[in-house]
Amino acid sequence: MEERDAGRRRILGALAVLTLASLVARDGGDVLGGRPPAPDGGARSDAGSDAGSDAGSDAGSGANGPAGHHQGAGALRRPPERRSPAAVPDGGAFPPASLRARRRPVHSLSDLAPAAPGNAIALTIDDGPHPEWTPRMLDLLAEHDVRATFSLIGVHVRRHPRLAERIVRAGHQVCNHSMRHPMPFDRLTPRRMTAEIVAAQHRIEDATGVTARLFRAPGGGWSRRVVEVAGEHGLIPVDWDVDPRDWSRPGTRRIARSMLACRPGAILLCHDGGGDRSETIRALRTVIPRLKHRGLTFVAL
Ligand SMILES: [Zn+2]
Repeated sequence: MEERDAGRRRILGALAVLTLASLVARDGGDVLGGRPPAPDGGARSDAGSDAGSDAGSDAGSGANGPAGHHQGAGALRRPPERRSPAAVPDGGAFPPASLRARRRPVHSLSDLAPAAPGNAIALTIDDGPHPEWTPRMLDLLAEHDVRATFSLIGVHVRRHPRLAERIVRAGHQVCNHSMRHPMPFDRLTPRRMTAEIVAAQHRIEDATGVTARLFRAPGGGWSRRVVEVAGEHGLIPVDWDVDPRDWSRPGTRRIARSMLACRPGAILLCHDGGGDRSETIRALRTVIPRLKHRGLTFVAL
């Protein structure tokens, strides 16, 4: 039964991607609704991921978040052969020329996949992979047979390639979340934006064999330019519409309350990196079954 569910979900995911491709190809423009800018465009705690060190070196302070204390995991590992993720056709699904015309990031499921069932919601998990929290998150999701979307930071992928690969192997989607999570992202020069996106894209491909098709700006630092640059690299800009601000550790109950208030079609944001995520994990442990009990279905983007 669970296998059939998983299969159905994979088919659903493929459908969503294909629908999205046709949507982008057809409209090529701003088909997205108007949501106010992300509330936390500025000082997010996961700024810790951006220590300003350069991408060139893997050692040292490329990221000073908790992940930075775990050097060398998965080093000298031969990258897997490049392949497509289960639900995402390899290459060319989202024509860059069309994406360039996009003016706003996607912030709800209906923007991204109109064919998704009405009871679908999407959980997005940002700022990993992290050696402590990502495995716990993966175990929890597996326990509840939930597929999610992980927004990966390039320097963390470089340090923990096996974790990134495990995410993909478990059937989750991956999203480019820049190389070093610089904020405010929208203040970067286009050249730096490009470098951040391209470097992360390569790290994700090297570790997982998957070409990410989604991009989430660090801290929700969107601007028209950010969206354009993402589009130039074939990436769909993905925002969120439910933010429990778990990064600020407001308490398990507050995180849960915020997530439980979500409506069908929501894209929910939480984190598996950038600090102690025990509250997030605890909250999800109750939130996931309750949302499922309500008849909502989790889909990967
Ligand atoms: Zn982030």
